[in-house]
Amino acid sequence: MARYSGPVCRLCRREGMKLFLKGERCHSEKCAIEKRNFAPGQHGKDGKKAKVLGYGLQLREKQKARRYYRVLEGQFRNLFEKAVTQKGITGELMLGMLERRLDNVLYRMGLATSRAQARQVVRHGHTIVNGRKVNIPSFTVKPGDSIEIRESSRDNVSILSARDATAHTPSPAWLEVDREALRGRVLQMPKREELVQIQLNEQLIVELYSK
Ligand code: SF4
Repeated sequence: MARYSGPVCRLCRREGMKLFLKGERCHSEKCAIEKRNFAPGQHGKDGKKAKVLGYGLQLREKQKARRYYRVLEGQFRNLFEKAVTQKGITGELMLGMLERRLDNVLYRMGLATSRAQARQVVRHGHTIVNGRKVNIPSFTVKPGDSIEIRESSRDNVSILSARDATAHTPSPAWLEVDREALRGRVLQMPKREELVQIQLNEQLIVELYSK
């Protein structure tokens, strides 16, 4: 399945909540959810809201998580399959893996204003993990790993302006971040309460994939 390249605010409006896909705009009054919090399309505003139950509810929860982390269906499913084989609560393990993706880590470090931008930073080869260049956004970091911006990319305007724009956004406790040096370290596995800024019931996703 191809990556969605249409207007991302539609995705938030479809889910009826902010998914934080557009960087600074998401925190401003220009946010589409602030202005038009109803489903996109012809019947969005006046149409009756159908009650979503059962399978529909599970599907919406999965789409919400997938869109929030900007992950393709196949990749999302693979994460689930991986989580099932590990010890622990499958839903939490899956969210933990999503959270530890390199693109998400850069976003959490405040070196990108959105996951889409973080993905581009990684793709363009600006990132070093444990001393080696990594340009795979889905690369999963683990406790003890160090992440930094490559020496030759430290004056990259978009990375520096993202750092300035996110100056007041605190980093999660599972990451140690040196914003000035454009580097960070994974201290521990992220805890459930430190994950996703949105309301999400990961158990419904597990039920969907377990059918
Ligand atoms: Fe658009 Fe961001 Fe608002 Fe979502 S949260 S509607 S992506 S501005």
